[in-house]
Amino acid sequence: MNSKCMDMSFHEIFDTVYEALKLPFKNFVNPTKRIHYLYLVSTLVLALYVYYRSKTRQNFFKFLFHKKVWFSKSAWIDYKIIFFNSFVKVLLIAPFLIFGLYISYHVNEYLMRTFGYESIKLSVTETLIYYTIALTIIGDFFSFFIHYLMHRIPFLWEFHKIHHSATSLNPLTQYRLHPIELLLNNAKNIIVFGVVTGVFDYLSNHQIEKITFLGVNAFSFIFLAWGANLRHSHVKLTYFNFLEYIFISPFQHQIHHSNNPEHFDKNMGSKLAIWDWMFGTLIRSKSVKNRKVEFGLGLGDDKNYNTFWKNILMPFYNLFQKVTKSFKYKKETAFTKE
Ligand SMILES: [Zn+2]
Ligand SMILES: [Zn+2]
Repeated sequence: MNSKCMDMSFHEIFDTVYEALKLPFKNFVNPTKRIHYLYLVSTLVLALYVYYRSKTRQNFFKFLFHKKVWFSKSAWIDYKIIFFNSFVKVLLIAPFLIFGLYISYHVNEYLMRTFGYESIKLSVTETLIYYTIALTIIGDFFSFFIHYLMHRIPFLWEFHKIHHSATSLNPLTQYRLHPIELLLNNAKNIIVFGVVTGVFDYLSNHQIEKITFLGVNAFSFIFLAWGANLRHSHVKLTYFNFLEYIFISPFQHQIHHSNNPEHFDKNMGSKLAIWDWMFGTLIRSKSVKNRKVEFGLGLGDDKNYNTFWKNILMPFYNLFQKVTKSFKYKKETAFTKE
């Protein structure tokens, strides 16, 4: 009996470890992920275009696969965080993905109770089009808004700093997130997916069940194929000036990673630039002289995040310091008042 139990738990542990290790590699064949091999091909073509326009004499291969980009100390930290987060995903996130369906079920039930069964009925095609547009725009707004809060609320910034402590950017840096940020982002995705799906399930009179969710819709396909991978890279792909008010170009996201205080808390949008435009946080590529940016936290803070463990633990340490400081301050002021 005991050995059977031991066997079970050993298998479970083995399965968990196997799933977690497999996860980063699965992304190369998952069309909803930025690093799917087809998007890597389109990224390569766009990088070639930027390379020819920049007229650098360096060999293209060296330009693209420079060891300062892919094998820097910062890049190794990215890779370690990706593996660490794979365990977080398998253990703490995967079991909760089902909540998206619970939320959509309850939203749909609520709408039926409030507005009755006979309502507007969208056709399958209409549902597909409106649902995709709504999910893209609402999802993008909440991505911006959560990101905006991470930059504005000191408690959240401590965790988001890990994404900004990268001093070199490569396409895998997009996954350099503190596990707490990863949990928040997934909670946001689950809620947005649940609510939007519930509303459209109601509006389409439950046709949404018939639409096998393609996983990747037309909009995210364009976004992913059109250089999303260059956002975290040294390849400075910019868009036409007017287009950068609407869509965030890869170079605009690189500005977001700049260690120059003038660029702090700017370009927080994911796909769309309109939110930054509305919130007054937009910087277009042409406003950066000679397109020169260096990446990192700036203000001498990068050295506090130059190892994997420092990135994982520093937010907790900093928050602990802040709390004890404020307690000390309260004690002191109470004492002087007496
Ligand atoms: Zn980034
Ligand atoms: Zn940020």
